[in-house]
Amino acid sequence: MPDRRATKAPRALRPRFWERYRLEELTPEEWEALCDGCGKCCLNKLEDAETGEIAFTRVACRLFDDETCRCAQYEIRKQIVPECVVLTPENIATSAHWMPATCAYKRLYQGRPLPDWHPLITGRAESVHEAGQSLRGRTVPEFEVAEEEWEDHIIEEEI
Ligand code: SF4
Ligand code: SF4
Repeated sequence: MPDRRATKAPRALRPRFWERYRLEELTPEEWEALCDGCGKCCLNKLEDAETGEIAFTRVACRLFDDETCRCAQYEIRKQIVPECVVLTPENIATSAHWMPATCAYKRLYQGRPLPDWHPLITGRAESVHEAGQSLRGRTVPEFEVAEEEWEDHIIEEEI
């Protein structure tokens, strides 16, 4: 997933870039700014072997910080969690099926607009939390839940 920390100033974001340019035309800063900080992609998921349906669980990646709703070791995350997917314009097509419906990358890839609570729309990083769209304070760490018990933590509603 992309970097969800505050990016380095100054940020060179073109006005309403998410409406005016294709994903592959975005600058690295714009690509990073698309992430709403929801943390949903850091949840462990279960895939139905027959239907391919993806179920999100409340069990979060071992590097997910439930208080900040961010990756605790972003710079070295691949060394610690090799399966962490670094989202790019090149792999969004093969990753979108397991991303949450609200994810800005998935929405733009599908030709949908950003939601009105997205920080790029509101100008405030907190708006994703205030809208109840983030996982802050809602996860359990994977080191507390055995993998065979993840099914007990499936999130039933669409996220
Ligand atoms: S689901 Fe999408 S928008 Fe939310 S944290 Fe992950 S990459 Fe960012
Ligand atoms: S390592 Fe884990 S917490 Fe960090 S970005 Fe990847 S999935 Fe999220």
